[in-house]
Amino acid sequence: MFKKILIANRGEIALRIQRACRELNIKSVVVYSEADREAKYVKLADEAVCIGPAPSSQSYLSMPAIIATAEVTDAEAIHPGYGFLSENADFAERVERSGFTFIGPTPEAIRIMGDKVSAKQAMIKAGVPCVPGSEGALPEDPKEIIRIARAIGYPVIIKAAGGGGGRGMRVVHTEAALIHAVQTTRAEAGAAFGNPAVYMEKFLENPRHIEIQILADQHRNAVWLGERDCSMQRRHQKIIEEAPAPGIPRRVIERIGDRCVAACKKIGYRGAGTFEFLFENGEFYFIEMNTRVQVEHPVTELVTGIDIVQQQIRIAANEKLPFSQRQIQLKGHAIECRINAEDPYKFTPSPGRITTWHAPGGPGVRVDSHAYTNYFVPSHYDSMIGKIITHGDTRDQALARMRIALSEMVVEGISTNIPLHRELLADAKFIEGGTSIHYLEGWMTQHKR
Ligand code: ADP
Repeated sequence: MFKKILIANRGEIALRIQRACRELNIKSVVVYSEADREAKYVKLADEAVCIGPAPSSQSYLSMPAIIATAEVTDAEAIHPGYGFLSENADFAERVERSGFTFIGPTPEAIRIMGDKVSAKQAMIKAGVPCVPGSEGALPEDPKEIIRIARAIGYPVIIKAAGGGGGRGMRVVHTEAALIHAVQTTRAEAGAAFGNPAVYMEKFLENPRHIEIQILADQHRNAVWLGERDCSMQRRHQKIIEEAPAPGIPRRVIERIGDRCVAACKKIGYRGAGTFEFLFENGEFYFIEMNTRVQVEHPVTELVTGIDIVQQQIRIAANEKLPFSQRQIQLKGHAIECRINAEDPYKFTPSPGRITTWHAPGGPGVRVDSHAYTNYFVPSHYDSMIGKIITHGDTRDQALARMRIALSEMVVEGISTNIPLHRELLADAKFIEGGTSIHYLEGWMTQHKR
């Protein structure tokens, strides 16, 4: 096992990885920007190194600064967390070339899965069902594009091959709007992701977002850890996640879970990963793979009892998975609410000083957050400041515990989306379960929020 790991991230996930290291008796080095000097995990770290000013381009995205820090601190491995450099194949390659272990998949696997066009092609080959769409990137010829859209049938969605974080997508309802939409998405994709390639998919009108968590070691073993339902989204960004997905028969989920495991073996995948699907009328359609730990990993940890971050580290240290598929049993139900520093209904960011932070507690309640009273939320990064995760024997119990937790939680000094969560946890349709990815937007309009 490693003696020392460098954590190339910030916020709650930096603290989460640090906790996993502590349990495994591994020392952690954290890197931080000038804006994160006061962060809890920086103060708690065995070693902490400031790598640059607040803008992430000069700190958390600076490959030379991170690798140089690993060198001077004698770290053996680098955990990239999520976001920032976590899905950057060049970074993974430079880490390994500099003699460190990258806690994640191989650069090749990140490269294939990071490009949504090549990821889809790999999945089709591996027998994983995908959303009907163009075979590969769209050609230049407008006539050909029109032909492809007719074959798929409107509405269609134009998506950037290099897209991520819910950006680089455009829905098209009529042929008249098609070519302009393709051109605009291409231009935006080129500017935002450095890759103008776009592809086309059937736009599913009422799907749910269901994803499968997998773990694969370097000894050809792979397992899936159940599914998560992440349909509660706004602007393609998840805000509530749960496991298992309400109302989907186990055999339907098992079939897709087994396909994901087979795909991992076929592509020689290692580490933790997530296959994301849209689920409509009883069918799964692959949309993308995330080759890293996800924000919503705790709901899976609570229903499986498996520490996903520790497993990532163990896999990177070349250990074998300590369980087989048969030994993975789902217990109860878990729900996560992402706490964002933002206006609850307009979603504008609300950085600043937290004057009171009181986190909830009690049976089945977990809070993953780096925030505390007097913590200053910097304006430079993502607005998520923590997550409340509750677990219960049943979905109803997990929901009840979440309502209690949300009622106990106090954050003053900045705005958060806690009021929105409180309303959603009282919403009849959400309580029933199985709402689609468009539900929240409809709810906002209906409630004039
Ligand atoms: P990103 O990498 O930006 O998260 P995804 O491909 O995972 O992009 O899509 C993000 C979200 O966009 C999905 O959860 C879903 O809400 C919506 N979406 C993507 N593809 C489709 C589609 N073919 N039909 C309907 N909605 C889609």
